[in-house]
Amino acid sequence: MMQNCSRAVSLVPQLSHTCELTPMDFTSLNLSQPLLDALDEIGYVTPTPIQSQAIPDLIKGRDMLGCAQTGTGKTAAFALPILDAISQNPWKGSRRIRALMLCPTRELAAQIHDNIEQYARYLDIRSMAMFGGVSQRPQVKILRRGVDILVATPGRLLDLISQRHVNLSSVQFLVLDEADRMLDMGFIRDIRKILAHIPKKRQSLLFSATIPSSIAELSRDMLYNPVSVSITPESATVEAIEQSLMFVMRSDKRGLLTHIIKEGRPEKVLVFGRTKHGCNRIVRQLGQDGIEALAIHGNKSQGAREKSLRRFRNGSLQVLVATDVASRGIDVSDISHVINLDLPNEPEVYVHRIGRTGRAGQGGIAIAFCDENEGEYLRDIEKTIRQAIPVDEEHPFHSEKARSCKGNKAPKKQQNRGRGRGRHQPRNNKSNGNRSNEKSNHQSKGGRNSRRSGRGRSRK
Ligand code: AMP
Repeated sequence: MMQNCSRAVSLVPQLSHTCELTPMDFTSLNLSQPLLDALDEIGYVTPTPIQSQAIPDLIKGRDMLGCAQTGTGKTAAFALPILDAISQNPWKGSRRIRALMLCPTRELAAQIHDNIEQYARYLDIRSMAMFGGVSQRPQVKILRRGVDILVATPGRLLDLISQRHVNLSSVQFLVLDEADRMLDMGFIRDIRKILAHIPKKRQSLLFSATIPSSIAELSRDMLYNPVSVSITPESATVEAIEQSLMFVMRSDKRGLLTHIIKEGRPEKVLVFGRTKHGCNRIVRQLGQDGIEALAIHGNKSQGAREKSLRRFRNGSLQVLVATDVASRGIDVSDISHVINLDLPNEPEVYVHRIGRTGRAGQGGIAIAFCDENEGEYLRDIEKTIRQAIPVDEEHPFHSEKARSCKGNKAPKKQQNRGRGRGRHQPRNNKSNGNRSNEKSNHQSKGGRNSRRSGRGRSRK
């Protein structure tokens, strides 16, 4: 059973910070001057709650269990103290991997690496992003030149460890980011194998949006005497978002989506579909209705995904259709509408999805479609968020039949489909799924790194 952040604190026998805000600026956090200069240039003035709570303990060397979603500023919360520690104690001799950050998707790996490059702009620290689905050669080349911080997805990392291209024997800092998602994606065995390659004496951090029992167990194995911080309990996120529910027959979903987009003219819409195939179909159908949309999911090439995201970010693309896995960790700050075209079968996923809108305190609108087969999922979601989602009947596709099915069990076929990437899948299938999720080309980071190392930063 999944637990939300507010209950997570009881799972570790340590002090737990609450969400109260202590007004401060970055100078009071004891970070070194090059980091402060970088933050100043980037435009970070005030630490976010997770940063003000986590950084002091991390600087002291404590292990940490952090319950926080993407969008809270957690990357800087874990990256800044690590950068600080590495730069204060430069390595003698050639570069070795001193910090390992594991995360579930290539997008997140690229994002973390990008952030680190920004924060470390005045430090002699090299990082790289490593993920599957692209040629390993450029990644191996970067590794040979030496990196201090490795941000990796587990599959490719294990591949390169087994080929002896990666040596983790000097790792002092370990971060597991979006740990719940990594476990959902079946990475637990890979993670445990990777842990076996890392020295036991290290500082370990585990961040997760939710704390299911599997994460609690992993944190007990992985963390020593951890401090627990918990930010933005999911219920709080839910409260900030204007939610509505539309009962619609499955066959009318497309018509309803087109109706909302054409009539409501929403600014930036993220549509969630259950499957990659379903996302493609929706994009095609919207196109037939004269609405341009693009899909991002694991079968799309990295180039296509990045292009779609760029356009979505800069506002030239109104509608992006995504699967849960592909959307994870994507930092687009001003999504006006999230539309659940299909209801997720895990209620926590609904909370993650709608949390994509209304970020950084902005309001957002989340619309959920519920068809005649999704009544069970709706009931579970409302139980989890402890509220009934207000029903909107003011649309031409409202269906009393779909409404009457609320609470009904979902058809078997749909359940299986929905759980395709879930925890219940056999290991072998999951493994394939993971690798394919990492698949498609993700070369740009290698190129970026090559350019960076090409600048020939010298060590102090
Ligand atoms: P994250 O949760 O780490 O993905 O961060 C979400 C977004 O907040 C990113 O675009 C960060 O660059 C931004 N951010 C993180 N910390 C701060 C801060 N202290 N001030 C302003 N923006 C921040």
